Amino acid sequence: MTELRPTILVIEDEPEIRRFLRTSLGAEGYRVVEADTGERGVIDAGTHKPDLAIVDLGLPDVHGTEVIRYAARHLPECDVMVITMFADERNVLASIEAGATGYVLKDCSDADLVARVLELRAGGSPMSPGIARIVLNQMRLGTGGATVAGRRGTVAAEGAQSSLTTRETDVLRLLSRGYTYSEVGDRLGISVHTVTSHIKNSYRKLAVHSGAAAVTRAAELGLLRPGEGNGPTR
Ligand code: CA
Repeated sequence: MTELRPTILVIEDEPEIRRFLRTSLGAEGYRVVEADTGERGVIDAGTHKPDLAIVDLGLPDVHGTEVIRYAARHLPECDVMVITMFADERNVLASIEAGATGYVLKDCSDADLVARVLELRAGGSPMSPGIARIVLNQMRLGTGGATVAGRRGTVAAEGAQSSLTTRETDVLRLLSRGYTYSEVGDRLGISVHTVTSHIKNSYRKLAVHSGAAAVTRAAELGLLRPGEGNGPTR
């Protein structure tokens, strides 16, 4: 039998959250595959080729970013959304740099969580207000591209183009104050669709940016041997 429903892989060790996502996303017409460890998740990702992976960062065996990195590398068609209790800068940046296109905190309501998943499936890039703030702060810090130039020309070149436009900054600033996407659209006189595309671009720029910044930081700390520098946290 051919499975035609889009598949969502939930990688999460908390049974209650898995059960909730299975029920609510199943009701939305999705086929939900569940994994309770990162290792299981990677195996399931290879087997089921999900359209979307929802990844918890605090997994019992590996850090969620490892799974995200795997999915980004091996399943380029698969969107990755982080659900986590961690709103700290390090986790946010590492996740986005690894390839996540949505980052949602577990303190949101159940209804909100499902709405964010559907939003991502519709081509959006969900972002909690606290995350918008981190993205803004991080992009203001500067890439340190020059420092990287000698080691990784490509990254430095990309980093130079990775600053946010005024409009992207406006969108993130309003989001960080807690405005909804449609309120942001109203205030800026743009459609919700345009709002989400600005958010998506911000994620993409931050991925380049945080990758470059991480390499710079590592180089400054003397952690890089020649030829290294592929990730922020390992
Ligand atoms: Ca967990």
